[in-house]
Amino acid sequence: MHRKILITGGAGFVGSHLAEKYLRAGHEVYVIDNLSTGSLKNIEHIQNNPAFKDRFHVTIDTIFNETKMLELVGICDTVFHLAAAVGVKYILDNPLSSITTNIRGTEIVLGLCNKFRKKVLLASTSEAYGKQVKAPLCEEDDITFGSSGKSRWSYATSKLMDEFMGIAYYRTTKLPVAIVRLFNTVGPRQTGQYGMVIPNFVQQALRDQNITVFGDGSQTRTFTHVREVSDCLMKLIDTPAAYGQVVNIGGTEEISIQSLAERIIKKTGSSSKLSFIPYEQVYSADFEDMGRRVPSTEKLRSLIGFAPELDLDEILEDVIRFIKEEAR
Ligand code: UDP
Repeated sequence: MHRKILITGGAGFVGSHLAEKYLRAGHEVYVIDNLSTGSLKNIEHIQNNPAFKDRFHVTIDTIFNETKMLELVGICDTVFHLAAAVGVKYILDNPLSSITTNIRGTEIVLGLCNKFRKKVLLASTSEAYGKQVKAPLCEEDDITFGSSGKSRWSYATSKLMDEFMGIAYYRTTKLPVAIVRLFNTVGPRQTGQYGMVIPNFVQQALRDQNITVFGDGSQTRTFTHVREVSDCLMKLIDTPAAYGQVVNIGGTEEISIQSLAERIIKKTGSSSKLSFIPYEQVYSADFEDMGRRVPSTEKLRSLIGFAPELDLDEILEDVIRFIKEEAR
């Protein structure tokens, strides 16, 4: 079946990978992106690929443009709502637009999907787990957030409100909506500009600059390759048992940020040294980091039969290769 896929935030890091996968599978893709953190550079190669000619349609506009969104949701059979502020740094620098994009934007997207009865996947985030440090994190776990004086939590709670909205649509109108909590997702084309750790560390290592480890480096994360994340998204949207559900997508290899820096130095053969920087020098004095963030992928596996499994070494090698090529 020839499908028409709408991706909000389709010029972003995850959206552009997802668009390419659907195009390679022979489908038609519509993208709407306001280029706030997305970039035309992410989709240039798709636009220039003759194989995708007439099947890739890009609208540079905001999802607040309801007339445009009405047209796009009306045309497409499936919607991926990925448009959102990304990156801790970006969110702290743009607290207001980060909230309105999440709240008003998602309200518009879900309202239109409901009007036309279109399948929709809503991208939430592991930030929604707040201060929870238990491992692994399960979708049904309780959540604790910091005070409203700390901007980081506004992003987490507005995304949580998106989740509530999606679940409420499912419960009241049976809208086919799947909600995913994306854990740290990495891969080619991710920019370090909004604070993400792996592209920043790799760039620093390749330039033999100090590696900027924030805090004491004992905080841990897991990382997932964007290619595997896209596979999960494509499968979940066609899995009716996932509708009305919140599902983690993330990696399982837990690593401290200090070890991550050391691994990147080794892999790049860099002469960089670690430089530990207190959080208050990087962000504001009231910044809070998450100490640990490891997903349970049991629910994902039970729904679609697989979960990301690429190991960190392979992920790092791919990112290093990409950043080296880009620098040429
Ligand atoms: N981090 C770091 N140095 C950097 C960028 C990030 O030590 O140059 C740390 C950051 O404080 C966090 C982890 O790496 O503990 C992951 O950061 P990122 O912004 O990539 O994602 P987060 O998990 O915080 O959303």
